[in-house]
Amino acid sequence: MTEQNQPATQAITSGRGASGSSLAPALWASTVWESESLVDARRRATGTRAAEFYSRYGNPTVRSFEEAVATLEGAEDAIAFGSGMGAVASVVLSMCSAGDHIVAQRQLYAGTLAFLQGPCARFGIETTFVDGHVPGAFAEAVRPGKTMLVLAETPSNPRLDLVDLDELGALRGPVTVVDSTLATPLGQRPLDHGVHLVLHSATKGIAGHNDATLGVVAGEKDYIDAIWSYSVLHGATPSPYDALNGLRGIRTLSVRTTHQADSALFIADSLLDHPAVTAVHYPGLPSHPQSDLAKRQMRHGGTLVAIELAGGQPAAERFLTSVQLLHRATSLGGPETLVCHPATTTHASLTPDEAAHVGVTAGMLRISIGLEEPTDVLRDILRALG
Ligand SMILES: *Cc1c(COP(=O)(O)O)cnc(C)c1O
Repeated sequence: MTEQNQPATQAITSGRGASGSSLAPALWASTVWESESLVDARRRATGTRAAEFYSRYGNPTVRSFEEAVATLEGAEDAIAFGSGMGAVASVVLSMCSAGDHIVAQRQLYAGTLAFLQGPCARFGIETTFVDGHVPGAFAEAVRPGKTMLVLAETPSNPRLDLVDLDELGALRGPVTVVDSTLATPLGQRPLDHGVHLVLHSATKGIAGHNDATLGVVAGEKDYIDAIWSYSVLHGATPSPYDALNGLRGIRTLSVRTTHQADSALFIADSLLDHPAVTAVHYPGLPSHPQSDLAKRQMRHGGTLVAIELAGGQPAAERFLTSVQLLHRATSLGGPETLVCHPATTTHASLTPDEAAHVGVTAGMLRISIGLEEPTDVLRDILRALG
């Protein structure tokens, strides 16, 4: 029944397993459940993902959130974490050991990049970085028998370059993982392209209200169970309160992302010919260098727009001090439109060479389009540009 429904409907019908006849999900705050007998206690303590044992192992509210994400991603199963980075760290450390090799794109979330370059390198896990939007780049860097993981992010931050999901799904050997945070589960479905695992910072668009810190990974049950076996010890466990907010966010995800993507396209298009703007990056624009790929693998162009200002950093600073409606903040996917200057915030730790590779320029601003009336957002942007 649910399988035949459209994604927007699945966002409403999914994840109701632990709620009984209640329409709103039940909040299971308990950290511990009682056992009837020694046999029962043993079953709970030794089983994979025991539902009612101890909340680091599993929690019914969290489970409902996981089931909803699995449904939307077309996955067998999903597992939630206390943050997007909790998801990234658990996937990498459950799949890789000292001496193993990872291929990852350079255009990664700064925290993921720092995790690969710092702790992973220290543990003897080596990463080769490639340009994710260049055809064949991942395949070329794979070392047969040595590369355990291929890690991609699309659309990527902040320039909104895309990775070809079909190309990634065709790789044989390593486990392929896509961080799909910027698209949300309603914007694209990496698993449909043959990718093994899809990952989200649900802190962003999924929870969608800047009030939950949450991560999630979806894919085949065998992979998810293997990740659980590691992560139950790693302990990046999600709070049931955050899972509740994640599930509430999923209920409105379709209307929110539809509004945000329409608004983003309107704003991106309106800025194309502005004399103070030298570049507008938005996958939904016909002028985006990968516009055909965007049409093939994305349901809409996403909720983020990046622009580059002719006046460089001084112009970006002037813009940030002039905005009235837009908020100066770095996150994304929430109700408020946010603007950040990647060169001095999210991407401040990059070397000039790395910044050039990922396309971060001194005059670049990343705008996360919120739920305000698009004309009001545009008016504030035009005022700040003028
Ligand atoms: C925010 C973000 C993360 C990290 O998620 P947290 O919830 O902040 O830990 C990972 N990937 C992408 C693309 C993100 O935007």
